[in-house]
Amino acid sequence: MYSGPGVKTSPDFPVPDKMKAWVLGNPGELKRTEKPVPVPKRAEVLLRIDAAAICATDLEIIDHGPPASIQGGMPFNKNFTPGHEYMGAVAALGPGVDEYKIGQRVTVEIHAGCGQCKRCREGMYTSCHNYGLNYGDVDKGHRANGFTTDGGFCEYQVNNINTLVAIPDAMSDEEATLVVTAGTAMYGLTELGGLVAGESVVVTGPGPIGLLGVAVAKALGAQPVILTGTRDNRLRIGRELGADHVVNVRNEDAVEAVRRLNGGKGVDYVLECSGAANAVNEAVRMVNRGGKVCLAAFPHAETPVDVAHIVRNNIYLYGIRGEGKSATHRAEAFMSQKRFDATKIHTHTFPLDDLPTAIRYAKERIDDAIKVVVKARGAAAHRVAAE
Ligand SMILES: [Zn+2]
Ligand SMILES: [Zn+2]
Repeated sequence: MYSGPGVKTSPDFPVPDKMKAWVLGNPGELKRTEKPVPVPKRAEVLLRIDAAAICATDLEIIDHGPPASIQGGMPFNKNFTPGHEYMGAVAALGPGVDEYKIGQRVTVEIHAGCGQCKRCREGMYTSCHNYGLNYGDVDKGHRANGFTTDGGFCEYQVNNINTLVAIPDAMSDEEATLVVTAGTAMYGLTELGGLVAGESVVVTGPGPIGLLGVAVAKALGAQPVILTGTRDNRLRIGRELGADHVVNVRNEDAVEAVRRLNGGKGVDYVLECSGAANAVNEAVRMVNRGGKVCLAAFPHAETPVDVAHIVRNNIYLYGIRGEGKSATHRAEAFMSQKRFDATKIHTHTFPLDDLPTAIRYAKERIDDAIKVVVKARGAAAHRVAAE
């Protein structure tokens, strides 16, 4: 029977001893296996995972390794379960936990900082100085599920209560997996200063974070919000999420188009979500003097940057890691109040057993896939009907 020291369970919510889990073998190789259901410790709960979304970072980890770091190194052949954008129901409470109830639906953010380093004490737990120091005799209590500890491509996982976000019954499982994506966009706008009402914003790159970046910027009152990208179908979704203007950079020069659409001036903020090689140089030319650029995506190779332009124009550059400063809670508030419809970026659902197929859809953008979700229970593969 499932149990652990000081762990509370409920007869209404039976927890098995073993669960289905996918683990990473060699690069690009996922294997289905069985693992013991993990046991929560102090300030942790056990979640039954009901849905997990696939993120571009998962694809990166599965094929190449970083930014995952398991036992201080590459994540391959270490019985590591990836997946970090998941939601579910609280299934068991660790010792002393009374903040959540068994059966309560929650979604998660990724980073549980150590809680004791300089950055965690400042609330910057996604930049924890003890990142990944959570194994063997160097256990600092840090968890980043799906990056440094086991993640969500399985049936149950342990989460620190600080990573939980309560969700209303009206929010679907699929929509709840998108809170962390909207939270990342929200964190970027928070770092840019947060007060974006009436300010002009460009979002570059209509991936999931960029598209929800448009939605969050608009919900915060930014005006105009301009989205740039190369795919018309995604730019169209950006418009549905509130973009005042969209620019297909295959057809026109992105910097010129932005300035034209903003009355001949540069914008106040750029949220860079494309990771394109020329993205930084373009972004610093899209903003006005004293403008701010947040970098939420990264290219694989080092890229030359026009430092002189940045210095002469007093431009601020911010790199962000993840969905920090409780941004997921602010994003969830917008979503539960229906300030924008994040489900517009959810395109496909597959059973957890079909994870390799789901990953192929996400990676090769089959059938215009954007956000692909896997569900452990009760999901037949389907494409969400286009509206
Ligand atoms: Zn992600
Ligand atoms: Zn820390």
